[in-house]
Amino acid sequence: MKKPRKSIFAVCMICSIAACSHFPSSVDNVQLTAAATTAVATTSNPESKNEEKTFVADAATVLAKKEIPILCYHQLRDWRPTDSKTAKDYIVPVANFSQQMKLLADSGYHTILPDQLMAYLTRGEALPSKPVMLTFDDTDDSQYRVGLAEMRKYGFKGVFFIMTVSIGRPGYMTKDQIKELAQDGHIIGSHTWDHHNVKQYAGSDWQIQLDKPLKQLENITGTQIKYFAYPFGLWNTAAIPEIKKRNMIAAFQLYAKRDSTDPLYTIRRMIVPGAWDGVRMESWMKKNFK
Ligand SMILES: [Zn+2]
Repeated sequence: MKKPRKSIFAVCMICSIAACSHFPSSVDNVQLTAAATTAVATTSNPESKNEEKTFVADAATVLAKKEIPILCYHQLRDWRPTDSKTAKDYIVPVANFSQQMKLLADSGYHTILPDQLMAYLTRGEALPSKPVMLTFDDTDDSQYRVGLAEMRKYGFKGVFFIMTVSIGRPGYMTKDQIKELAQDGHIIGSHTWDHHNVKQYAGSDWQIQLDKPLKQLENITGTQIKYFAYPFGLWNTAAIPEIKKRNMIAAFQLYAKRDSTDPLYTIRRMIVPGAWDGVRMESWMKKNFK
């Protein structure tokens, strides 16, 4: 079914441009209560299975922390003659991705995962030197085929934000691949059911776009899904309580300024355009995250 794949990708591309100019186990259970200026969440400490820790911080504390570079990838494949100039911003050729990962490793970067980021932002816990987070949106199977292989060379771990409508379709990851990513220590997050803009949700959209995908991803991975990425990076303040209600403890956008009361639900990321080499990527990482 090529058609749905193309149409979803096209919608993603068009709106991304706009945005850019733009466990079911008790041990791992996460509970969230959040007031306007305070985010509170408990989660298990992977180092110590029986110890529960809480992510608590007021917005000012979170906003005062130095931002950690978070990179956002979509497709990892060589360009085709039919790829538009804009599409090439979202399609990173294999050699470029390989070179970018090598540069990060050679330069001493360490990939971190969202729980580490939350511990840093809310409790001031130390991160490894030169931290960076790698995130992958939209379920494209090149993320598994190319991304995983390159990341394994350096022991890197990433976050995969899945739009569940495409699971198992041609060109997209299967349930087994997503499960393997989770078992390999990567984090699976939610990216809605079919990538509609959260700013337009009403009525049953929240169940369709948030509740059902969460249940499906939790069934696939056997873990609680704690992290969300907004389609196209677009968000509004009405979406944040809906995400909190579903026990997701942070949400990732793209380039907009973070929300002054809920910075943990508007964490910034940077798309790495396909034409960039590692050096250019690193220079933008330093410029964009301060
Ligand atoms: Zn997306």
